[in-house]
Amino acid sequence: MEQNTLNTPIDALLERLSAMAIMMEMLDENPFKVRAMQAAVRALEDANFEYLDLAAIAEVQGVGKGILGLIQEFAETGAMKDDAALQEKVPASVLEMTQLRGLGAKKVRTLWQEVGVLSIDALSEAVNAGKIAQVKGFGAKTAANIAEAIQQYRSAKGQTHLHKAWAESERLCGILSALPKVLRTETVGEAAQGAETVRLLSVLVSAEMPLSECSAQILALSEFAHFSVCEDTVQASSMLVLQGLTENELPCKLFLCMPANAGLVRHIATSSAEYHAALVKFLAEKSPESSIPSEVWADEAQMYSEAGTKVVPPELRINARVWSNDDEVRKFGNRVEELVQAEQIRGMLHVHSTWSDGKHTIRQMAERAQMLGYEYLAICDHSKTAVYAGGLTEERVKAQHEEINRLNEELREKLREKLRGIAGGNVRPFRILKGIESDILRDGSLDYSDAVLETFEIVVASVHSSFSLDRDTMTDRVCRALEHPATTLLGHPTGRLLLMRKGYELDMEAVLDTAKAHGKALEINASPYRLDLTAEHAALAEAWGVPLAINTDAHNMDDLSNMRYGLQVARRAGLRASSVVNMLGCEELLQRF
Ligand SMILES: [Zn+2]
Ligand SMILES: [Zn+2]
Repeated sequence: MEQNTLNTPIDALLERLSAMAIMMEMLDENPFKVRAMQAAVRALEDANFEYLDLAAIAEVQGVGKGILGLIQEFAETGAMKDDAALQEKVPASVLEMTQLRGLGAKKVRTLWQEVGVLSIDALSEAVNAGKIAQVKGFGAKTAANIAEAIQQYRSAKGQTHLHKAWAESERLCGILSALPKVLRTETVGEAAQGAETVRLLSVLVSAEMPLSECSAQILALSEFAHFSVCEDTVQASSMLVLQGLTENELPCKLFLCMPANAGLVRHIATSSAEYHAALVKFLAEKSPESSIPSEVWADEAQMYSEAGTKVVPPELRINARVWSNDDEVRKFGNRVEELVQAEQIRGMLHVHSTWSDGKHTIRQMAERAQMLGYEYLAICDHSKTAVYAGGLTEERVKAQHEEINRLNEELREKLREKLRGIAGGNVRPFRILKGIESDILRDGSLDYSDAVLETFEIVVASVHSSFSLDRDTMTDRVCRALEHPATTLLGHPTGRLLLMRKGYELDMEAVLDTAKAHGKALEINASPYRLDLTAEHAALAEAWGVPLAINTDAHNMDDLSNMRYGLQVARRAGLRASSVVNMLGCEELLQRF
């Protein structure tokens, strides 16, 4: 349900209802009405719906008639008149202050109406000027807490999903590479390292001209007019760093260098400071008589060949310890040799089509996957319990299988034709697999009878409801699904949505034990909204001997390209290709799972 979950109407509704409760409280409206609204929001949150299902909401205790009417209005029009009336009275920037930890409606009302503070920025100034500490009922301690809450809020707000960070960096690369004498631009920093969410964009600019000239040229562009030179890097002769906010308000650093230093600067901009320092020290100790001074590396490959390893990808340039002694370096070097590569991924499991909540047909998804060089694609639409996402009834499953058979026959025919044309040419076969993303029901059972489950070649078992079960119950539920003979793999194992929802409680080690005992795989969901498993858990799974499937969970053709983010997770985890099931050929995959 990924795609739908992300724009899930119920989240938007809950956000509006809780905002209304806060505004009503600020405006001193009838306390009974305020409490009824707060209670309804809590009840709906506890019910854990993902979609706005009026019939189900009507069953929830604690949602009164009046509020149900509002919800209906919202479902029909996407807005509520009462909400609009409240927003007329309470400025949005005042309401935003209630997002700060420790500031409720009453405190914000005091700040707004008695102190005249109208926004978080104004509040920050007032705290710094010592004004808030003097407000009755606040004091120095509260003022200090507010200052900290503002900082936290601003940094959380400054985070962005990985694919958006890549898109924004690539946009900047496009602007910068059009400048004269710019030889190379590249996304570096957190995005290149595959950070789960990105706080700071970084772009490398290598140009055949003095750094000051390059900097002047960039600052003359309107996009970068507000950028300034980063003070703490001025003394480095090999690079100059400009920093500022992009037009889309994302913090950004531009690393300017000359081609002779491009390798070194790229390494600095894609490594943790400790990791970079450890490698430089290792190189200096290894060959003290080296003819190349450490500030001049045109190419990272030079550095790594001198260190005696393959070039380490940015995702693994974090831990300084790997350069601490020859033994560690050798182990690390071996690990990098065996690291999973994009070219090794032969097929994709877990994508959706128009049969459930996907945007494109099976044919369209398959053609794109084939174009991207894959050999197989498992269509795993939603199962029947996921009504909100167009889950498939038993009859629809049958019909879908017939369509897949037809498409596969067509593909085979095309292949035969091509082979006749090229006689032994390297045309690869392509196959669509019959799959399902089966909801794991509350008791851990799967969503169809065993007889129906047997008709699928791939069964992705996923939790899509009842997220708030306690740890033991949730662990039992997931393990039971893994024990089912039909299950191939566990989809988005922790259920988290980055920057939106924490994962549910789960004993990962117990899950890994069960997966191992029953020969099941765990997913690395490559959707940049999920990245689930995390790199840490993926590394743990590999150590446990549990295979991993990197899946895009694509709901449209373009999202099939999200495989790259899943690969970033895999590289961060240091996964060997042999731990990843998608590098198996289709037949071998079906035999093993
Ligand atoms: Zn799912
Ligand atoms: Zn899915």
